[in-house]
Amino acid sequence: MKKYQHLLFDLDDTLLDFGAAEDMALHRLFEEQGIPLTEDVEVKYRQINAGLWTRFEHGEITRDEVITTRFAKLFEAFGQEVDGEQFDEKYRNYLAESKVFVPGAWELVNQLAHKFDLYLVTNGVSTTQYKRLQITGLAPLFKNVFVSEDTGYQKPMKGYFDYVFDRIPNFNTEAALIIGDSFSADIVGGIHAGIDTCWFNQQGKQGVENYEPTYEITELQQLKKIVL
Ligand SMILES: [Mg+2]
Repeated sequence: MKKYQHLLFDLDDTLLDFGAAEDMALHRLFEEQGIPLTEDVEVKYRQINAGLWTRFEHGEITRDEVITTRFAKLFEAFGQEVDGEQFDEKYRNYLAESKVFVPGAWELVNQLAHKFDLYLVTNGVSTTQYKRLQITGLAPLFKNVFVSEDTGYQKPMKGYFDYVFDRIPNFNTEAALIIGDSFSADIVGGIHAGIDTCWFNQQGKQGVENYEPTYEITELQQLKKIVL
């Protein structure tokens, strides 16, 4: 008999290739603005953005602060002043249009959707995430989607997981598995919430001391062996 019934998938860099989406959106945005997107600018953007989302994960700043300041900070680093909020809105529109999957993701979720109850557990901006789920065709494969912004919490906070568990019919911690690429958000969050965890570690990263995922995979296909 199958051990798991509720599979909780992270979205970015677990099912959808966020790096590719980001790359495409940045290029289109800068092209539209007539500003050359050099490698320096791109590297700097990724640093600023990742730093802000980490602070958000730690509850130090709000999601709005992340998205309204990242481009202002980027241009500030190059001695320019821009309307960060307006820039970000355009960026998110482009971001939402990307359809690049992580290899094997589409086939995997299509196969699993017949046998399990699939849920999406994602940090991020609701409008962007919902648009991406529609455009990619992922939306109908999931029983429900939990975007952090709608819950008032975010991964890895316990409050986020409580919110999700409360909304899954016949939820049972023993039958739940979270699958995600972020050790700090998905794995640490899942462990604190008392469910099994599967770390999708495509790049062979180091985990966090004193935390052990239940499973670790380097390719999505390996998940089938675990759950089926
Ligand atoms: Mg992720």
